[in-house]
Amino acid sequence: MAEVENAEALAPSIASHISRDGDGKPYLTGTKCSSCGHVFVGGREVCAKCYARSGLEPVRLAETGTIYTWSIIYRSFPGIETPFIDVIVDLEDGAHIKGILKGVEPDPEAQYFDMPVRVQYEEMVPPGADEEYLVYYFYPADQEA
Ligand SMILES: [Zn+2]
Repeated sequence: MAEVENAEALAPSIASHISRDGDGKPYLTGTKCSSCGHVFVGGREVCAKCYARSGLEPVRLAETGTIYTWSIIYRSFPGIETPFIDVIVDLEDGAHIKGILKGVEPDPEAQYFDMPVRVQYEEMVPPGADEEYLVYYFYPADQEA
């Protein structure tokens, strides 16, 4: 990976599957199996679909997809504002990723299945931390960044 010149000024990633390119622009990292074509979030040494042990290549994941399923979370760690919508998203490249849906008020009567969403990166200080971290959230695809 290319070194970012002003890396000290950029918030570190809160998860290993969030990286920055040479310009400091964040992206989600994944692995693609050259045997079966399946795409996974993060790094992998063995394909969980076809069990290939070679031909697993790092890829930049898609940043749009649709909600596969969700849950409204009413109780979380101290300092985490609730309720919020926890989602699993099918990215357009086939990877499945967990995240939090923002830009939508949690509504127990609503159906979020198949809602088109996009990734948005933010720098925030998690509860209990003393510095900013790079995180990502999902927003409805039709909402402006
Ligand atoms: Zn495979």
